[in-house]
Amino acid sequence: MKIPQEKIDQLNEIILRSNRIVFFGGAGTSTESNIPDFRSKRNGLYNQWNEKGLSPEILLSRSFFRKKPEVFFQYYRQNLIHPDALPNETHYGLAKLEKAGKLKAIITQNIDGLHQKAGSKYVLELHGSIYRNYCTECKKEYHLEKILEDNNVPICNVCGKMVRPDVTLYEEPLDIKVIDKAINAISNADTLIIGGTSLVVYPAAGFIEFFRGSDMVIINKETTLYDQKADLVIQGSIGEVFRRMNL
Ligand code: NAD
Repeated sequence: MKIPQEKIDQLNEIILRSNRIVFFGGAGTSTESNIPDFRSKRNGLYNQWNEKGLSPEILLSRSFFRKKPEVFFQYYRQNLIHPDALPNETHYGLAKLEKAGKLKAIITQNIDGLHQKAGSKYVLELHGSIYRNYCTECKKEYHLEKILEDNNVPICNVCGKMVRPDVTLYEEPLDIKVIDKAINAISNADTLIIGGTSLVVYPAAGFIEFFRGSDMVIINKETTLYDQKADLVIQGSIGEVFRRMNL
């Protein structure tokens, strides 16, 4: 269903009067780049458990990674790595807002690096990035190619131990330095735009509680638990919103 023009107009007005916008986003910002999210009813990865009946939450957990790294890497390569994906209107629109001095930070739960590919500079990756990888023993850093170069568990050239992605697995804490920066950005924002996230993954979702500014906007295909707290809720495709805004 087409998003009503008055919603787009309201968002344009908010952007016009804002100077310290922060965007808080999730996997829904990248579905229009053909990267599946977790919880969309139709194509979300949570509807596609692996052939052994294991859920993504198990397959992407720290304990499973330690117990069965070969199965972890098979699932991770197949479902989480999309090196050929290109940014969409949302990523480009946000990069434009940053360049115009309106947007101060993007806080993302995504690990796909598409905001940076679109030209955004200040991006806080709460859950890490597929593009950073490191040896679990000697900490030598590796590019994504190391994970893609063969179908086995990637092994460090220096010490022979396992290389892993710098992404936050279930059962692992977030990076405290990134948390600090994210909370600081949200606390200082005059407008918080939340987009393409189910807001059910904690602690990330809880950070929006630190918002003290004047306008909270939620753009999402499905309803979220925070809709009632928002000043403007736009239900629909975030790509459509950015395509129709005055940027
Ligand atoms: P989620 O899957 O829980 O929720 C995505 C939300 O976005 C859903 O509510 C869905 O309705 C909405 N959505 C989907 N497409 C949309 C669109 N085009 N326009 C507007 N809304 C849209 O994702 P989440 O909240 O980010 O949390 C899940 C975790 O998944 C995150 O921690 C993230 O690290 C990980 N993840 C990341 C990627 C990625 O990097 N692209 C992909 C899959 C999962």
